[in-house]
Amino acid sequence: MDRSTFLYLEPKVKTHNFAQCETCSMYLSKHNICSLHGKDVKIKPTMSCGLYVPNGPAPESEMEHVSLKVTPKESGLVDAKVRCEHCEYYEMKDNDCLLFKMLNIKEYKVVDDGCCNAWTKGDEGKKETKQEILKKFVK
Ligand code: SF4
Ligand code: SF4
Repeated sequence: MDRSTFLYLEPKVKTHNFAQCETCSMYLSKHNICSLHGKDVKIKPTMSCGLYVPNGPAPESEMEHVSLKVTPKESGLVDAKVRCEHCEYYEMKDNDCLLFKMLNIKEYKVVDDGCCNAWTKGDEGKKETKQEILKKFVK
C-alpha cells in the first residue's frame, strides 16, 4: 500500500484553496454548479468532494457536459477545509501524516495544503489513538 491508495495530492505552488471546489476542474464558478453533480445541486466554492481534479475552475464551455453523474452522498461532498492542515491525522510540527505512518506507508511526509480521501476533521480536544486509527483503516 502507498499513499496513492488514498489519492494523496499536493499543489505545485503553495495555495490556500487547494482541494476546494473553487480550484477544481469540474467547477463552474459563475453558476455555482459542478459538471459531475448536475444543474440542481448548488456547489459553494468552499466545498470539496472525493472526485476533486486540480487546475480549475472549469472553462465556460464545460457547461455542455454538466449532468447528474454522482450524488453528493456518492462523491462525499462536504463544506469543509479539507487540506492536511485541518486534518485530525496531521502532525504539523514534523509534516507527518499520522495515518500513513500507522499504516507503514513509506511516504508519510505531507504538506500543509496537501489532501487525501481519508481527510478527517481535526478535533484539537481529542486525538485518536493508534489503535482507534488502525481499527478504522486496517481490516
Ligand atoms: S463537488 Fe467535487 S468534483 Fe465538483 S467541483 Fe467540487 S471538488 Fe470538484
Ligand atoms: S493528514 Fe489527513 S488529509 Fe493529509 S494525507 Fe494524512 S489523512 Fe490525508
